[in-house]
Amino acid sequence: MSGLYIHIPFCASRCIYCGFYSTITPKKAIGTGEVGNGAPYLIDRYTDAICKEMELQKGYIVNKAIANEENSKLKTIYLGGGTPSQLSFRNLQQIFHQITTVYGEILDDYYSMEVTLECNPDDVTDDFASEISELPINRISMGVQTFSNDRLRFIKRRHNAEEIGMAVRRLRNIGIQNISIDLMFGFPQENLDDWKKDIDKALALNIEHISAYSLMYEEGTPLFHLLECGKVKEIDEESYRKMYEELTNRLTNAGFEQYEISNFARIIEGRSTSPYRSRHNSSYWNDTAYLGIGASAHSYNRTSRQWNVSDLKVYIDAIEKGKLPAEKEIIDENTHYNDMITTALRTTEGINTSILPSKLRKYILKAAQPHIKANLLKIDDNHLHLTRNGIFVSDSIMSDLMFV
Ligand code: SF4
Repeated sequence: MSGLYIHIPFCASRCIYCGFYSTITPKKAIGTGEVGNGAPYLIDRYTDAICKEMELQKGYIVNKAIANEENSKLKTIYLGGGTPSQLSFRNLQQIFHQITTVYGEILDDYYSMEVTLECNPDDVTDDFASEISELPINRISMGVQTFSNDRLRFIKRRHNAEEIGMAVRRLRNIGIQNISIDLMFGFPQENLDDWKKDIDKALALNIEHISAYSLMYEEGTPLFHLLECGKVKEIDEESYRKMYEELTNRLTNAGFEQYEISNFARIIEGRSTSPYRSRHNSSYWNDTAYLGIGASAHSYNRTSRQWNVSDLKVYIDAIEKGKLPAEKEIIDENTHYNDMITTALRTTEGINTSILPSKLRKYILKAAQPHIKANLLKIDDNHLHLTRNGIFVSDSIMSDLMFV
């Protein structure tokens, strides 16, 4: 199994906390498909470039590294960003047409695949919903973040709380049965009651999946600048901890399975694991090969990792000349092990120690001992995983298990 990720680096505006690579969606000259000086519209040029990159990278997924897998078919497609819902229907049609053309041989049928589109709630109009119903998209991931209009304004999101519910209704109306939302907690001055209200509003949407992250102050972002100038204050560690605890308690009590530190999927009775786990994101944690297309996209095939340049113009110019603007890193045994510490250990299943080379298996079992004794790690059936207490200190545990 492998996944295809396509990065759409356009956003209608920039949120103050965001460290992802994206640029403001350029406007078309009125009544034309072009910008004012007659140059092709940037989004159309970018769409052409990612379609061309798919051809250039055709051999990446089916290669020696994964040729022996039982099933080397493409199982998941994820259009992320940026804001993929900023693309026109024509752009999206072109992308899916190209996926079918280039990867037809290794494509599972779209119905059995997980095909996700990231959306902003305010982009999900009736027209948008009706257009995407004609595409093979069966999962929507929406950047909700909070239901508080004050907090949404503070982080400079474009949507308001009312638009979130409307977007979910519109998506249900076109038959989308797998909806995920992103939530954020730990805003300056947010208290536990505010956070409880956000969780309850999220649950009231009756959706299938929730990802929840604490607000990060990434260097270089406007939010980081506000912190440095003393205009905002981070909430304290204890409050973060209580909010995270509230999240896991409320969601598990409401019938969600926590299958990764920040991810929760609705449980279906009689199924041992939720069918709503993000299959695409799970591939990042489960050491599955994936191909990333587009500016700043990363690819991984177990023996190497490569990443495209994070510059729209450089990316498009190179691809138009038939060159891949990517850097590559060969992954040796130790790097592979360290990657597993920061990915597989995030999941409830943890790291399968039985597949590690003997040197690294001995190393991890020894390094894990103090944490096992402290009830922060547990080993079940050769799988080393975080306990509930361990999740709160996962960063320091991961750093202790790294092979240096
Ligand atoms: S919409 Fe998403 S990608 Fe765009 S600026 Fe906001 S957080 Fe970043």
